[in-house]
Amino acid sequence: MIVPAQARVVVIGGGVIGCSVAYHLAHMGWTDVVLLERDRLTSGTTWHAAGLIVTFGSTSETSTEMRKYTRDLYARLEAETGQHTGLRQCGFIEVAGDADRLEEYRRVAAFNRHCGVDVHEISPRQIKDLFPLARVDDLLAGFYVAGDGRADPVGVTMALAKGARQLGVTILEGVPCTGVTRRRGAVTGVTTPAGEIAAEYVVNCAGIWARQLGARAGVTIPLQAAEHYYLITERIPELSSSWPVLEDPASYGYFREEVGGLMIGLFEPVCAPWSVAGVPDEFSFGEIQPDWDRMAPYIETAMQRVPIALTTGVRKLFCGPESFTPDLQPCVGEAPELRNYFVAAGLNSIGILTGGGLGRVVAHWIVNGRPDVDVTGFHVDRLHGYQTTPEYRRTRTVESLGMVYKCHYPGYVMQTARGARRSPIHDRLVARNAFFRDVSGWEGADWYAPPGVEPAASLTWGRPSWFPYWAAEHRAARDAAIVMDMSFMAKFLVEGADAGPVLDWVSANRVDGPSGTITYTQWLDAAGKLQADLTVAKLDDERFWVVASDTAHRHALTWLRRQIGDRRAFVADLTSAYGQLNVQGPRSRELLQSVTSADLSDAAFPFRGVRDIDIGFAQVRCIRITYLGELGYELYIPTEQTAHVYDRIVAAGEQFGLVHAGLKALASLRMEKAYRDYGHDIDNTDSVLEAGLGFAVDLDKPGGFLGRDAVIAQKAAGPLPRRLVQVLLRDPEPLMFHAEIVRCDDRPCGYLRAASYGHTLGGAVGLAMIEASAVPGGAIVQRAIDAARWDVEIAGRRHPATVSLRPLFDPDNRKIKG
Ligand SMILES: Cc1cc2nc3c(=O)[nH]c(=O)nc-3n(C[C@H](O)[C@H](O)[C@H](O)COP(=O)(O)OP(=O)(O)OC[C@H]3O[C@@H](n4cnc5c(N)ncnc54)[C@H](O)[C@@H]3O)c2cc1C
Repeated sequence: MIVPAQARVVVIGGGVIGCSVAYHLAHMGWTDVVLLERDRLTSGTTWHAAGLIVTFGSTSETSTEMRKYTRDLYARLEAETGQHTGLRQCGFIEVAGDADRLEEYRRVAAFNRHCGVDVHEISPRQIKDLFPLARVDDLLAGFYVAGDGRADPVGVTMALAKGARQLGVTILEGVPCTGVTRRRGAVTGVTTPAGEIAAEYVVNCAGIWARQLGARAGVTIPLQAAEHYYLITERIPELSSSWPVLEDPASYGYFREEVGGLMIGLFEPVCAPWSVAGVPDEFSFGEIQPDWDRMAPYIETAMQRVPIALTTGVRKLFCGPESFTPDLQPCVGEAPELRNYFVAAGLNSIGILTGGGLGRVVAHWIVNGRPDVDVTGFHVDRLHGYQTTPEYRRTRTVESLGMVYKCHYPGYVMQTARGARRSPIHDRLVARNAFFRDVSGWEGADWYAPPGVEPAASLTWGRPSWFPYWAAEHRAARDAAIVMDMSFMAKFLVEGADAGPVLDWVSANRVDGPSGTITYTQWLDAAGKLQADLTVAKLDDERFWVVASDTAHRHALTWLRRQIGDRRAFVADLTSAYGQLNVQGPRSRELLQSVTSADLSDAAFPFRGVRDIDIGFAQVRCIRITYLGELGYELYIPTEQTAHVYDRIVAAGEQFGLVHAGLKALASLRMEKAYRDYGHDIDNTDSVLEAGLGFAVDLDKPGGFLGRDAVIAQKAAGPLPRRLVQVLLRDPEPLMFHAEIVRCDDRPCGYLRAASYGHTLGGAVGLAMIEASAVPGGAIVQRAIDAARWDVEIAGRRHPATVSLRPLFDPDNRKIKG
């Protein structure tokens, strides 16, 4: 086999994802593409997929768009390529058998409808009419999309490959990629047994092999193969292939016709990772020996939904490997370790039904240099090296497959692979009765139970048992003082003669001002879209302290390093070197003053000041800043002295009403003040003006900044097309979490990107991106907002709301607006 000497892009892997990436690159005009497939197309996981095509079910806008796009693409692919795709739009029904599922699906359905999915709530009787063999007496409702259904995964992949070939893509089967070549931090090509191919871009679409292939290039892709099952019964004459696919997560199964029998697909709650040591190179069109004993109870439960299966013979119990990731989101995007090396893998059992959309997103990203959808939730740079260890993968994967079918309660925390990263005061917080959740692998204190009460999660769509404890922490921050362990925050020291100029170029705000000052800023790309939202503290002329959230850790670090290029500046990641305690609240100054000899008066230590202060035996970097809207301080303490400083603060705190507060309080306090959180309520598709952060942009600073032209252009273009607003429910009872639909004068105009409960404001509060076209007058200004009638739809019911451009809670004068 002779391979071409060069190509613009080499795609590795001929499953549905690799073929989709190649197809979309070609359709975007990049036809100088080589796809390498180790064996034959579809020989990995794709060949044995069940081929469900489903647009209902996600509260991510990106995922829903990818699902819709995929279905529409598969619907036209056959006409374009002449290749049969087997798409059958026979419909899809998701059933709810208890009140909590019904609540979840009503919330999801409202969001999906807003995104253009034609989903209808139907009765058990209607379910029976559509799928007569189903047992429905214990069901409450179904959620039906008539245009969804199933496709032939091999047909779809072959059609994508044919479409790519027709436009000039070279597809080579039987040619494995053995490694990559690189130069100065960027990939320059691939190696194969038949020779090297020089390339500008390489895309790892190697499915269950992607982690191993990535590791050879030093790229972190912590996915793991797991056993994944479906059973096919003998022929059932009563069954029709025209019936919709039926899915019942509570029974662990989905059901559809397959060659005259019933296919029962399974997502068991406790699953089995497969081949943790590594996937064999020669595994092709492979099957895994099924574990009947493990699966039998789940199969039996599933069969009760379609009882005829209990008395029908089994033709085949099929088990194949599929890749799962630590958080059930795929691994997508440019690797932080290697420029121009892209990843598109870790599909968590929805690679067929999202594959078309994902291929489009990745191709767009490569061709245009940036994605056109929110990728904060699935960017490969959110993941960390420790997640690739065999023990981590083995442990977490047991939980991840089953997560697909769990009721997605707002307070759910992953149970497995816990304790991987702990703050230096973790044991002290355990003693304080903290309830912990997984915060990018760290044990993050979420809330604290009072003495004698077990800190246990309560899974509910209503008020959890810990609601009053949370409220007390929140109030303590407004009335007295709180201490929060924030050691998981990402902390970088940027040093060098060019550190100031580089950071000033990267930041939209002016950060290279007076030493001893912290600045809140965004980092923008050339299109003026947000890439990071963080603080930069200037320690002295050549040293800066940059702090970003845990989820943005590697993204911010990579972004900065790439902007520095050859300039004289160096970034050190000091996240592990420093613990972080935030002491916040109106009495925080008094408290801290009682444990330090430093002068904390307003004159000596004003807002936005950065000082080194003493606390006990420790020298602490103290920054006067708040993310809660109160007087407050962030303390950065050498890791080995964090416990010592914590003990001093807690001992002194009693007389100032100090309360331990967790991440739930952080969320509710910051939401009342409408402080943004990157990756939750703002993302890479938002401009800084749309995010309502224009106040943090310095258009006049000397030398400008990256993205400045785009900001100026958007300002000049007139009213913004959309804008982030704060939304407060008038009724104190209902709760909002994410994805609830906002209406302006009865017109849907956006959804809650993130929400919490405002214990001071007295109602659920969140941030929503609102389309200007839905607001009277077409401009999102407070006058127009005040003149309109607003409500929020929660699980089918509408609740009146107050909407504001300015924070509804104003801590400066302790007055609540609205
Ligand atoms: C039982 C089962 C049922 C499923 N049902 C559904 C469903 O109903 N709907 C749905 O959406 N999804 C379903 N899935 C999931 C779906 O099959 C996968 O998400 C999807 O096929 C993944 O595609 P991929 O291209 O990432 O991986 P693969 O199909 O595995 O493709 C990766 C390719 O890379 C090649 N490769 C690996 N290493 C190299 C190398 N070094 N050089 C060159 N080539 C290499 C492999 O040979 C392979 O062909 C199911 C999965 C299973 C196991």
